[in-house]
Amino acid sequence: MSISQFRHSSIPPEAEMLRSKVRAFLRDELADYPLTDRAHSWMGFNAGFSRQLGEQGWVGMSLPVEYGGAAASPYSRYVVIEELLAAGAPVSAHWIADRQSGPLIQRFGTDEQKEKYLPPICRGESYFCIGMSEPDSGSDLASIKTNAKKTKDGWLLNGQKVWTTNAHHSHYMIALVRTGDKEETGRHGGMSQFIVDLSLPGITVRAIPDLTGSEHFNEVFFDNVELDDSALIGQEGAGWQQVTAELAFERSGPERFLSSIALIYAALDVIGTKPDALQSRDIGRITARLLTLRDMSLSVTQQLSDGENPAWAASCVKDLGNVFEQEIPEILQLLIDEQPQVSGGSEYARVLAYLTQMAPSFSLRGGTREILRGIIARGLGLR
Ligand SMILES: Cc1cc2nc3c(=O)[nH]c(=O)nc-3n(C[C@H](O)[C@H](O)[C@H](O)COP(=O)(O)OP(=O)(O)OC[C@H]3O[C@@H](n4cnc5c(N)ncnc54)[C@H](O)[C@@H]3O)c2cc1C
Repeated sequence: MSISQFRHSSIPPEAEMLRSKVRAFLRDELADYPLTDRAHSWMGFNAGFSRQLGEQGWVGMSLPVEYGGAAASPYSRYVVIEELLAAGAPVSAHWIADRQSGPLIQRFGTDEQKEKYLPPICRGESYFCIGMSEPDSGSDLASIKTNAKKTKDGWLLNGQKVWTTNAHHSHYMIALVRTGDKEETGRHGGMSQFIVDLSLPGITVRAIPDLTGSEHFNEVFFDNVELDDSALIGQEGAGWQQVTAELAFERSGPERFLSSIALIYAALDVIGTKPDALQSRDIGRITARLLTLRDMSLSVTQQLSDGENPAWAASCVKDLGNVFEQEIPEILQLLIDEQPQVSGGSEYARVLAYLTQMAPSFSLRGGTREILRGIIARGLGLR
């Protein structure tokens, strides 16, 4: 692989035409939605809003029409999510289902699984979470211990997942678990993915508060959970290959560089129309970086659209995007003489406090900086 993988790509006019419609919808629906809530970005939860987006045809839109999607191009989806994220819309209820569970089911699922799971995803009514990380397995995902053992009628699931975003709100988890003996299958073999109905007996979900005191991720325990055969998604033993394909969807979208956008808007309001020289310089730099990241992310969209494997380029977008969104609170503190305030104070001070607390997590969720840089180094032929 080489750096020439990044090719300039622009949004085709038919996809671009969607933008004004999405903007008008968001202007109406989010007219009273405060900036402090918009700062939650794709962590903001609102089931009613997800359903409204489903009614507009903006959830699962790349899925086939027969399952409730619009068979839309990845660029159309890009326009919709870019507008949603720029507005800080509360999208977390359907976010994982739209971004990766739906496409995963479409790619690897049986006809029965597609018929069962995809239509409610497209209606914005069915929520999924990702069950990859475990207490001793994060970066080293292949070391997972949660296992499913074959029984007469299906599978018996035991183990624990951790940091599972929205498990407490979700209907289903797509879990990566061990189904074969590591000694026999090798490190990356013997793993499979299951669609786990989180209402089944034997499942306990326990919230983990984050630095801001919010509870959005969880520990999930499986104690002799009985799964039907139909819970297996894709091929038994091919879980690692399936997960690797899923991660490219997870790492390249605008959510990897827009997490601090509410703070940029708040800062522009405070600075107003007469910035000093330092403010002008840094606003220019922020804008240039934002546009470059967007170009890179669009290039990955092109690769996904062309059926290429964009794992290397997606890692570049996520790593550079995370550096950018993490630096925003620091850069702005040097430009505006106002301290972060968790409560009270101006809207800017509260958004600054929230994003200062959240920023460290940006380069952990979805794969850490060191792991991404390892993938990038391999792509550049350095290891
Ligand atoms: C907000 C948030 C939401 C999340 N949501 C989910 C979710 O929904 N589902 C899910 O499955 N997981 C989720 N995660 C978990 C996330 O994927 C893991 O935290 C991440 O993969 C790192 O794993 P770890 O926490 O075990 O840290 P570790 O893997 O123990 O890493 C600790 C540190 O060591 C470094 N390190 C590890 N290995 C190496 C190496 N080989 N070389 C150099 N450095 C290394 C890492 O880069 C990191 O800095 C979430 C995490 C966060 C913060």
